[in-house]
Amino acid sequence: MNASTSLSTRLSNNFILNEFTISQVAERHGYKNEPNEKQIENLRLLCVNVLQPLREIIAVSIFINSGFRSFDVNAAVGGKFNSQHLEGKAADFIVPSMNLVDVFNIILQKLLFDQLIYEFGNQPRLDRRVEAGWIHVSWNGELNRKDVMISKKVHGETVYETVKSETLDVRSV
Ligand SMILES: [Zn+2]
Repeated sequence: MNASTSLSTRLSNNFILNEFTISQVAERHGYKNEPNEKQIENLRLLCVNVLQPLREIIAVSIFINSGFRSFDVNAAVGGKFNSQHLEGKAADFIVPSMNLVDVFNIILQKLLFDQLIYEFGNQPRLDRRVEAGWIHVSWNGELNRKDVMISKKVHGETVYETVKSETLDVRSV
């Protein structure tokens, strides 16, 4: 970050940089979680191309669980070594006022993306009022793969399954 960027820097109409850098893990461990200019630009592109268009379709708040991750933060949360969170190209989020499968299907049917993953929807809920899991979405410009997957914990191991249908069935997550 330099003098022209701050945590309140606006990435798009409804998203500011701080939402993508705040991390309880970073705070707990005392790790820095500050993106550089390139990583901030990637976060901006993720907002402009995916999250802001989604926000305009659903017209309700999106809560970012995890956006940019420094090397230390990514390691501490058990992220993959080549995670797109390291580059500021991915975000994990929930939409508290909507069914997440419905949100997933809106992205799948209406938006462009690199990877779209419904993560760990099969985990036990900590709070019955809150849906389990979250949506991971990434943007990689001309390199977008349009991969659609769900991830599950099976006997403690993470398993990814490709979604081939045009609509994710709520029973499959
Ligand atoms: Zn993620």
